[in-house]
Amino acid sequence: MNAEIITIGDEIITGHTIDTNAAFIAKALGSIGVEVTYRSSVGDSIEHMEEAFRLALKRTKVVITTGGLGPTDDDITKKAIVKVFRRNLIFHEEVLKDLQERFAKRGIKLPAINQNQALLPQGATFLPNKSGSAVGICLAEKGRVFIALPGVPFEMEQIMIDEVIPYLEKIVTGKGTSVKLLRTTGIMESKLAELLAVDLRTELGVRLAYLPSARGVDLRILASGENNEEAKQKSNTLVRHIESKVGRYIYGQDTDTLESVIGQLLIDNDQTLAVAESCTGGELGKTITSVSGASKYFIGGLITYADSAKIDLLSVSKSLLEKHGAVSQECAKAMADGCRKKFDSDYALSITGIAGPEGGSEEKPVGTTFIGLSSRNETYAIQFNFGTLREINRTRAVSSALETLRRYILDIR
Ligand code: ATP
Ligand code: MG
Repeated sequence: MNAEIITIGDEIITGHTIDTNAAFIAKALGSIGVEVTYRSSVGDSIEHMEEAFRLALKRTKVVITTGGLGPTDDDITKKAIVKVFRRNLIFHEEVLKDLQERFAKRGIKLPAINQNQALLPQGATFLPNKSGSAVGICLAEKGRVFIALPGVPFEMEQIMIDEVIPYLEKIVTGKGTSVKLLRTTGIMESKLAELLAVDLRTELGVRLAYLPSARGVDLRILASGENNEEAKQKSNTLVRHIESKVGRYIYGQDTDTLESVIGQLLIDNDQTLAVAESCTGGELGKTITSVSGASKYFIGGLITYADSAKIDLLSVSKSLLEKHGAVSQECAKAMADGCRKKFDSDYALSITGIAGPEGGSEEKPVGTTFIGLSSRNETYAIQFNFGTLREINRTRAVSSALETLRRYILDIR
């Protein structure tokens, strides 16, 4: 089953608002096996919306729009919908009642202008909005589903999760599908493809997609079958194949993140972690503490940007810095060692590198990064050579540091 996402609003097409709604919806649909084949955006013009809706209904089974459902004059999505579907707007008493009650709770009388939000296209069902005044609209006709959602991101997200996904899942699973995400890091997409060399896909009716980002490559396995059980079995066959080939690079599945996986390992082993960062400026600490409950294993971190901070706070020796420089294997080791001792933790990770765009040399070009790891038994550092983009280098340094620790704890060499 394929889908088109249409985001609506002048602010979207002019670039004043970044279209995060489409990304959210695309990911959510992907997770239940609905394939997004088109994404488009259209301004606040009835005529252009009509055109976009008609085209989308022609080429996809599911159409999801966001924006323009508010009560003001510039919110005209409903007008375009009734034109395309040739319906009238029907008044829904229960929608109005709900709105009145919600306003009353806040001690406000429902403004007259909001009353038109209880008008929905004939034959449409409404999708409750827990935090805003615009309900979602769902129209199903001739094997097509048309869903209109409000533009405010957290309202749209709530309706997607509570209403749209369960609804579509039911339709999708009529045929039986299974979606699985295997998350890898520390290996390039092309290398993965080479090692996997699978053509199980056609054989099994299973599709494998490579989804690369600065943090790693996700492998999405989409299987279909007579029913969910059959789809899952097909998917499992491919998962086992992938694990046998590249298992050491797979750190988790589905909603796992490197930081959540590390966190669980540390909890299981009753161990603690501290970090010392230079070029990532706190991003490693931020990433680790994005996991709720990180206080169980994360003691703290130091951002030691200048040499003086490395010397004063981590006891890196001045002569070492003079001899090897701050971006060196020796310095990364000394930082990790000093950090672990300072915090008395079981592990310490350190990062020192040249994030760029300035500061590179022939010997150490931009992207040169050293990750140090200190445990109670040993301390070592690994060199990485990332690219030339500062933000991506920092992200890759954080992922590489976490992956270095994961491999150490699990003894993956
Ligand atoms: P409202 O009842 O608030 O008017 P609405 O359904 O009419 O809701 P819009 O007016 O189109 O929605 O947008 C409301 C807010 O949501 C705006 O601040 C807008 O910037 C934001 N927004 C709209 N569409 C998107 C999008 N595709 N991605 C991110 N933000 C969006
Ligand atoms: Mg609006």
